[in-house]
Amino acid sequence: MTAQMDEKIIPIYQEVLARNPGEVEFHQAVREVLESLGPVLTKHPEFAHYKIIERICEPERQIIFRVPWVDHQGKVQINRGFRVEFNSALGPYKGGLRFHPSVYLGIIKFLGFEQIFKNSLTGLPIGGGKGGSDFDPKGKTDGEVMRFCQSFMTELYRHIGEHTDVPAGDIGVGGREIGFMFGQYKRITNRWEAGVLTGKGLNWGGSLVRTEATGYGAAYFVDEMLKVRGESFDGKTCVVSGSGNVAIYTIEKIHQLGGKVVACSDSSGYIYDEKGIDLELVQQLKEIERRRIEAYVDYRKHAKYITKGNIWEVPCQVAMPSATQNEINGKDAALLVKNGCIAVGEGANMPTTPEGVKIFLDAKIAYGPGKAANAGGVATSALEMQQNAVRDSWDFEETEARLHKIMKNVHRDCFEMAEKYGAPGNYVIGANIAGFIKVARAMLAMGVV
Ligand code: GLU
Repeated sequence: MTAQMDEKIIPIYQEVLARNPGEVEFHQAVREVLESLGPVLTKHPEFAHYKIIERICEPERQIIFRVPWVDHQGKVQINRGFRVEFNSALGPYKGGLRFHPSVYLGIIKFLGFEQIFKNSLTGLPIGGGKGGSDFDPKGKTDGEVMRFCQSFMTELYRHIGEHTDVPAGDIGVGGREIGFMFGQYKRITNRWEAGVLTGKGLNWGGSLVRTEATGYGAAYFVDEMLKVRGESFDGKTCVVSGSGNVAIYTIEKIHQLGGKVVACSDSSGYIYDEKGIDLELVQQLKEIERRRIEAYVDYRKHAKYITKGNIWEVPCQVAMPSATQNEINGKDAALLVKNGCIAVGEGANMPTTPEGVKIFLDAKIAYGPGKAANAGGVATSALEMQQNAVRDSWDFEETEARLHKIMKNVHRDCFEMAEKYGAPGNYVIGANIAGFIKVARAMLAMGVV
C-alpha cells in the first residue's frame, strides 16, 4: 500500500468495494487515489459535506452492449462492448477504447476513473470516460476488424458526440480502427463530425503529434523529474516495456534527448540490444508488418531475444513501463532499485502494483505515476478537438511545443501540490490531489448533480 487511508475515507472505500464486487483493478485504482485524499478533506470539509468523493467513485453512466459480427469463415461471433461515462464536470467525457481479450467492466472502470484525474491534470476542458471490448484484434484480418468496428459503432454512436463523449484509441485501437469507426459513425448519423473521435488520420481531421504524443509526453515528464534532481537523459541506459504506440514514441524521444534504450518487449518476451534499440526496425515489424518483437533478432544478429523473459531484470537508470496494468510487481520494483534505477515514468495506465509503488516511494527515486506521466496522449487529443472546432490544423512544431508545455505544467502542478501537502517529491500524492481538487471544485459549483 502506498499510504494509510484516512479514517474518514475508509467507509467510502468499503462502500466502493461492496457496490462493485469482483472489479479488482477498479478497487486498486480507487484505493490509490483515496489514500492521498485524507488531508484534502481536512482542509476542505465542504468536499465531505457534499459527498464529492462518493460521487466521483460512481460513474455518471455505464453502457454495456452486444457486438455481433461475422468472421472470415462466415461464422457469427459475439463480443461485449463497454463505454463508461465517468465524470463530465470539466468537459465532455474523454478517453480511449481498448480492444483486448482481458477487457471486462472492472478494467474499463479503472481506466475511466484514472482518466478523470489525468484529464484534469492536463488543464484542458475534458471529462473522464473509457470504453472498449473483449474483442482480440490479434491475428484478425482487416475485413474482420472492419466488421467488428462497424458493429461496435452501430451501438456506440447513440451515446457519443463532440459535446457529449469523445472516444479515441488505447491498447488494440489505433489509426486503422478509428478510421473504420469514424466511417460508420458518419454513415449512420449523416454528419461529418470531426470532434466525435480523436486519433483520426492526418488528411481527415487528425492532429499532427497525436500518434507520438503519449510516448513523447512521458519522456518529457521524466525529463522534468530528472531536471529537478540535477540530472538528464543524457547518457542514461533506459528500458521501455511494450512495443506498441506508447513504447515506440517513448523510445524515439528518449533517443532524441540523449538516452539509450536497450530493451523493449511484447507479451511473449523481450529483446535486449546493447547498442540501443533500432527503432525503425521495431516500427517496421510492429506498425507495418504487425509481427512479434521476436523477429528483431533475425535482422540484428548481435541482439538477444529472451522468450518469456522479465524485462525488469535488465539493469537501467530509467525505466518506462509502457505495456499494460500491473506489469511491475514488488519484486520487479525491488530489482530495478537494486540495479541502480533512479527514475520511473509510467507510459501505461497503472503499470505498477501497490507493492511496487511503495518500494519506489520508499527508495525515494523519481516515480511519475501514469495519470501524470502519460497525460500527453489525451492532452494532444484535446488539441485535436481544438483544431477541429475551429476547422484548422497546426504544424508539427507548434503542436509539439504545446504538448511540451502541457507536460511541463503537469509536472510543475504535481510537484508543487506534493510540497504543499507536506510530501515533497511524491508525485503520487501530487498528481492525485492536483487532479482531484480541480474536479471537486467544478462539481461543487454545479450543485448536486
Ligand atoms: N488511451 C489514452 C489514455 O489512456 C488516450 C485517450 C484519449 O486520447 O482520449 O489516456
